[in-house]
Amino acid sequence: MVRKAAEAEQTIRAWGSGHSFTPAAATNGWALDLSALSGFSDIDLTRRAVTVKAGTLLRDLNAALHTLGLALENLGDIDTQTVAGAISTGTHGTGARLGNLATQVLALELVQPDGSVVRCSAEEKPDLFAAARVSLGALGVISTVTLRCVPRFVLAANEQPEPIEQVLDTMQQAADANDHFEFFMFPYGCKALVKRNNRTADEPAPLSWAAEFLSYELIENRAFAALCRLGRTVPASVKPAGRIADAVLSARAYRDWSYRVFATPRKVRMVESEYAIPRGALAEVLTALRSLYGRLATPVAFPVEVRFSASDEIWLSPSYDRETAYVAVHQFEGMPYLEYFREFEAIARAAGGRPHWGKLHTLASPELGALYPRFDDFVRLRDELDPSRVFRNIYTDQVLP
Ligand SMILES: Cc1cc2nc3c(=O)[nH]c(=O)nc-3n(C[C@H](O)[C@H](O)[C@H](O)COP(=O)(O)OP(=O)(O)OC[C@H]3O[C@@H](n4cnc5c(N)ncnc54)[C@H](O)[C@@H]3O)c2cc1C
Repeated sequence: MVRKAAEAEQTIRAWGSGHSFTPAAATNGWALDLSALSGFSDIDLTRRAVTVKAGTLLRDLNAALHTLGLALENLGDIDTQTVAGAISTGTHGTGARLGNLATQVLALELVQPDGSVVRCSAEEKPDLFAAARVSLGALGVISTVTLRCVPRFVLAANEQPEPIEQVLDTMQQAADANDHFEFFMFPYGCKALVKRNNRTADEPAPLSWAAEFLSYELIENRAFAALCRLGRTVPASVKPAGRIADAVLSARAYRDWSYRVFATPRKVRMVESEYAIPRGALAEVLTALRSLYGRLATPVAFPVEVRFSASDEIWLSPSYDRETAYVAVHQFEGMPYLEYFREFEAIARAAGGRPHWGKLHTLASPELGALYPRFDDFVRLRDELDPSRVFRNIYTDQVLP
């Protein structure tokens, strides 16, 4: 298909699950639906390495790895993305000592415009490997991904509301002291919901079905959706509802297999922007963000999510060469968000932030070039591999020269 598209002077774009908020997967040319390109193509239990076809859903991968006694060391907060789609935009979870999903990649195969397949890893074409792991589909269609796994493990999950001031004072130490630390800061409340997930040798002790249904389905999804819908109809209700959230937030502690703790159902539809900022700038960014809420014309129904990541060496990874804090802002679908996201973007940019490639932002190639030390190397490689721009789309036109 790729060769045919190139011969027909068409563009072609691989699709993941369509979970990017940016038009990363949009096309005016041909679309390549890889949902049937799924499953393992190789399993190496000695190296704890598995090779999966690009369209494999993380959810299916996690379940299959579990039966092999394996797991991915870190994941984001949903599991409905494809492996190739997730790594292509730099999808990450939280963990100050851990990188994003693309850092768990050991090798990749990419289909080139002439239909040939090129393989890259740290040893084989290392420059291509440094570029291709987060490449927005611009260097070719990923056909397989080899992933580094770890023995499957149990996480002790501890979630509790804490006063925001206290969380802001202790967040850097907490990020270092826990395997996976994150928090949700509510715009109009006084509390943050803090999540600390740590590896444990204890057996799983999952939430009961009833507790899970109450927490995730009723409170986090249905009740939250109802509050958001009310807020969309009656914006004046958002601030009082946000304060009520303080009272409703509750603590929970349980142990479960890692992949069941990392990903939770997210059924309330929203728009999102996220910036990767230098860890040291987190306090100033959150302080500026908190002072913004009183000035916005439309109140914000969703909390701010704060996560942490280790530095990495992937040229277009938002965590490239720096310890990172990720700050994500959201707004309920159908509510005005442009003012909020514009102001957030200004705050994050002033701190040297780099946008998540899959979440809303307005940056174009000149600004992005200044944020990524290896941007020009990426562009040169793209010129070599795809001189006629078979893999371009509206988004690569925005973010790459
Ligand atoms: C509810 C929700 C929760 C989210 N949670 C997180 C989170 O916790 N952490 C985080 O970092 N992000 C998160 N995201 C963002 C999401 O992980 C990314 O946008 C991810 O890229 C989506 O994966 P996808 O499979 O849907 O890919 P798509 O959005 O379909 O595609 C993403 C990009 O990958 C390219 N692509 C797909 N397949 C291939 C291939 N085979 N070869 C080459 N290029 C390819 C596409 O062309 C496109 O450029 C979330 C998004 C949503 C909607």
